[in-house]
Amino acid sequence: MALSFGRDIFMTPGPSVIPDAVLNAMHRPAPNIYEGELVDMTTSIFADLKTIVGTKGDVIMYICNGHGAWEAALSNVLQPGDKTLNPATGSFAHGWAELAKNMGIFPEILEFGKSSAIDPNQVESRLRADTSHEIKAVMATHTDTSSGLRNDIPALRAAMDAAGHPALLLVDCVASIGCERFEMDNWGVDVMVTACQKGLMTPPGLAYVFFNDKAGKIATTTPKTSPYWDWAPRVKAEYFYHRFFGTAPTHHLFGQRAALDIIMSEGIENIWNRHRVFAHSIAAAAEKWASDGPLYFNIKNPAQRSNAVTTLLADGLDCAPLRQWCEDQSGLTLGLLIGFDAFTSGFRIGHMGHLNPPMVLGALATIDAGLKALNIPHGDGALAAASQVIANS
Ligand SMILES: *Cc1c(COP(=O)(O)O)cnc(C)c1O
Repeated sequence: MALSFGRDIFMTPGPSVIPDAVLNAMHRPAPNIYEGELVDMTTSIFADLKTIVGTKGDVIMYICNGHGAWEAALSNVLQPGDKTLNPATGSFAHGWAELAKNMGIFPEILEFGKSSAIDPNQVESRLRADTSHEIKAVMATHTDTSSGLRNDIPALRAAMDAAGHPALLLVDCVASIGCERFEMDNWGVDVMVTACQKGLMTPPGLAYVFFNDKAGKIATTTPKTSPYWDWAPRVKAEYFYHRFFGTAPTHHLFGQRAALDIIMSEGIENIWNRHRVFAHSIAAAAEKWASDGPLYFNIKNPAQRSNAVTTLLADGLDCAPLRQWCEDQSGLTLGLLIGFDAFTSGFRIGHMGHLNPPMVLGALATIDAGLKALNIPHGDGALAAASQVIANS
C-alpha cells in the first residue's frame, strides 16, 4: 500500500535536498544585473565560499555543473601534450581523466580499485621516478561518490612533498564541500573544483574553481584554448558582467546566498560534525543489515568511508525493487550504483547537506521496512543501532 503522501525525502548523492529558504529566495522577479543588490550579494558569496573551503586564493564561479568545472580547471593550468598522474578510487577519477584525455592531455591512471583509498606511498614512488618532472599535475578525488570512499588529501600532499615534485595538486571536491572537512590552504591544494548541488544545497547550475597563487601564475602562461573557461578576464573583471563572461546566473545567486546563510549560521565545523554523526548512524544500521544476508559495505575500512555517501553492495541481488519500493511506497529516493558492473546489485545513500535526525532515521527505517516487505534477508537491530549513534552525539 502506498504510504507516500507526505513530504518526499531525497537521499541521493547529488543533487541533494534543497532547503525551503533556498527555494523561496529564488522565487522572485528578475533583478538588475548591472549594479545594486545582486552585485554586492555576489561579492559576499565569493567571500563566504572562500571561508568555508579555507582559502585565501581566488575563486571563479561558472554557470555549469561539476563536469564544466573539471574542464575549466584543466584548461587553465594544463595544455595539450602535458602529462598528469591520476590516482583512481572510483568512477569520478576515471571520468576526470577521460575528460583530460579528450583535451589532449596524457593522464596516467594509478589504479586503487573501487573499495580502497589512494596509497600515498605509491604516488610518492611514481613521482620520484619522474626525475624530469614531466608530470604537471596530480588529479585526485576527495570523496568518490560512486564508491563511497574518502581519500586522505593531506597524506597525498605529504607524498608529493616527500618526492620533492613540483606538480600541481588538483582536487575534485564536488561531493565533499559542505559535508566533509576540507582545508584548501592548510592542506596544500593548488586547485579545487566543486559544484553547488551537493553540500552547497542549491539546484544544479553553478560550479566553482578555487586556485592559489602557484596555479594562478601557471595559468597566466598556459596557452588558452577556451576563452569561456579562462580565469584571467573573470578574476580581473572590471564590470560585474565580466565575472560570468556574460549574464549572471541571477536566481541561482539568490539561492546560493540563502544556502550560504544557512551554512554560515550553523558553522562549518558543526556541519562537518553533523555529517559525521549521520554517516556513523547510517553505518551502524548498515553493519546490522550486513550481519546476515547479501548486503555489505563497499568500503571495508570505516576510516576510509565518506561522511557524504554510503555505497552498499549485494552480490547477485537486484536492488532496483528495493529502491522502487522506497520511492513509490514511501516517498524516499535512494541513489543507484554507478561505476560498478551491475547497476542494480546495490544502492547508494546520499547524506549530504540539509538533513536532520528525523530525515536520516526515517530513511533508515524506510529501507528497513523495504527489506522486510521484499523478503530480503538482513540482520536485526539496525534502527536501534542507528538511533544509539544519534543519542550518543
Ligand atoms: C557529482 C560529482 C561530479 C560531477 O558533477 P556534475 O555536476 O554531475 O557534473 C564530479 N565529481 C564528484 C566527486 C561528484 O560527486
